[in-house]
Amino acid sequence: MRELTGRTVAVTGAAGGLGAALCRAFGAAGARVVAFDRQQADIDALLADLSARGVATIGTACDVTDEAQCVAAIQFARQHFGGIDVLVNNAGITHRSALSATRTEVIRRVMTVNFFGALHCTHAALPDLIQRRGQVIAISSVAGFAPLIARTGYSASKHALHGFFDSLRSEVEPLGVGVLLVCPSFIQTGIDRNALGGDGLPARHAQSIVGQRSMPDEIAAKIVHAARRDQRLLLPDRVSRTAWWVSRLAPALYARLMAEKLRREMGSADA
Ligand code: NAD
Repeated sequence: MRELTGRTVAVTGAAGGLGAALCRAFGAAGARVVAFDRQQADIDALLADLSARGVATIGTACDVTDEAQCVAAIQFARQHFGGIDVLVNNAGITHRSALSATRTEVIRRVMTVNFFGALHCTHAALPDLIQRRGQVIAISSVAGFAPLIARTGYSASKHALHGFFDSLRSEVEPLGVGVLLVCPSFIQTGIDRNALGGDGLPARHAQSIVGQRSMPDEIAAKIVHAARRDQRLLLPDRVSRTAWWVSRLAPALYARLMAEKLRREMGSADA
């Protein structure tokens, strides 16, 4: 079991739906929380809420696509709290568009936030994580291990996280650093509102989902529990667990059912 009391936990995309819930959950577990997100005003509102809950917290604006900002943000955490014990790579965006109707820069943008953002922050925090025998958490998705129709870029970015963090684990686990991949299905957050369309503008169609959307606080509590237990993989809901097994045991069936279900709901514009 990993101790969280008094440890420093840094969360990217901290002002979003799951990010804020993670800050609350790690704070409630006794951790000191460092919040990173793009807009200082969003960080300030989050810090006020966390402070009111008695959480020791600081935060700074950090666009994870900018490596220099990530290095500076990790240094900011180091200066205030002495170093990072747990890094949660949570910042992420999606798109909703079939590839034939998607500009390549939309895919590049999604990869840059979801994959390269995690690379920048993890690389900057790695000396602390090794020195403190810490932990790195990547918020992936069901789309990180299985296909997702009309999300080629999103799925590619999340699959990339698996290759990256599963490989990193083999380098750092012998040094005492834990690596946890989290693969939720659908959570009630702002991700749908913030999704890009194939033209790079906000997506015009609502996301269709399989099963129920989980609440962010419920998923965040499961992530804290898995972090404490030093798990390598967390499938936090029923759809993610079912998707894991069906996609492994019957991949063609999985792809067909997923595409049929989502295509029916999305209509031809998306799929
Ligand atoms: P959200 O849109 O509510 O929050 C995402 C946060 O990331 C926002 O605060 C946003 O400002 C921040 N962000 C975006 N680009 C950034 C950048 N360049 N630099 C720094 N911060 C940036 O969405 P969410 O659902 O809370 O997303 C959190 C994570 O959960 C994402 O990685 C997402 O892929 C993953 N996820 C979400 C769902 C879901 O259904 N909501 C399912 C599986 C996985």
